[in-house]
Amino acid sequence: MILLNPGPVTLSERVRAALAGPDLCHREPEFGQLQARVRQGLLDVYGLDAGAWQPVLLSGSGTAAVEAMLVSLVPPDGHLVTVENGVYGERMTSIARAAGIEVSPVTRPWQEPIDLDGVARALDRNGHAPTFVAAVHHETTTGRLNDLEALASVCSERGARLLLDGVSSFGGEWLDFDGWPVEACAATANKCLHGAPGVAFVLTRRERLESPTRARSLYLDLAGHWRSQQEDGTAFTPAIPALYGLDAALAELDASGGWQARRARYAELAGTVATELESLGVTSYLPAEDSSVVLRSYRLPEGMDYPLLHDGLKSRGFVIYAGQGAMYERLFRISTMGVISDSDMQRLRGALREVIT
Ligand SMILES: *Cc1c(COP(=O)(O)O)cnc(C)c1O
Repeated sequence: MILLNPGPVTLSERVRAALAGPDLCHREPEFGQLQARVRQGLLDVYGLDAGAWQPVLLSGSGTAAVEAMLVSLVPPDGHLVTVENGVYGERMTSIARAAGIEVSPVTRPWQEPIDLDGVARALDRNGHAPTFVAAVHHETTTGRLNDLEALASVCSERGARLLLDGVSSFGGEWLDFDGWPVEACAATANKCLHGAPGVAFVLTRRERLESPTRARSLYLDLAGHWRSQQEDGTAFTPAIPALYGLDAALAELDASGGWQARRARYAELAGTVATELESLGVTSYLPAEDSSVVLRSYRLPEGMDYPLLHDGLKSRGFVIYAGQGAMYERLFRISTMGVISDSDMQRLRGALREVIT
């Protein structure tokens, strides 16, 4: 089965084999070496300097990393502006509310770009420091790649710091850690990095971990995890098989040309799918230039509901993804993350033709 949903992804044989690595106690030095290698590998994806940036591993899904970022880095007197144009931006508002963080959401409908003027107004209204802006890089709800370049300028001009949900873009799209006012970025093993679910992580500024503010959680306290991980230990029992998988996946990413090569491959695959669908009369929901290379959403063909399309493709070996919420009735999504060969693509084109015509 080839997974065309936005994570978990189809694994390489090497990553799959790594998952069944030796039994390991997380208090033994072999674990420390594995963890240190993975943490270095995460820094290496975007060539980050360990003096400025530090990775913190968490066992959990991408949402655990996003939640850890928000509850650990927004100080008790801090204010958070959340930028919403989809499910994942809205989720950050919910996380903030659950944690008692003072939050101002800046909301747009799901199909629209983020509201930069609204963010500027929210920051200007909220004169008191310290202010953080939480934004989703790739809003997987629609496939839109949010304009972080523009958001970064709005934030820089006002001294606000960015907390990024890079869960579905880390490793597959450009993230300017040092050019944008990034405070932290949360992501996961099982999307563009091609690892298995179970491990997520936050990359943040070293000084935030060395002199942490009071976290609003015990289990998701980034500084607590970091202190243990700096000593090659771990605060709690980690998802060891998923770490084995991520270790192998990072080695593969590096050997295959890094995020740039991965991005180029994703762009090629997404283009192939879009062209095939267009020839069948199926149109993209967003213009290609607004979409990530990771995932695109399409309008359901006339007279075909999602289950019919999904089941037809699944019986031919491909799992696609529904639209979220009310978009279920109108859209479907295809992600081209994961290990997808040219021959898988040939078969997919055939399957789309058979099911849609
Ligand atoms: C997948 C995803 C998440 C996290 O989802 P989990 O199910 O918790 O792994 C968060 N943000 C974005 C943008 C995502 O695509």
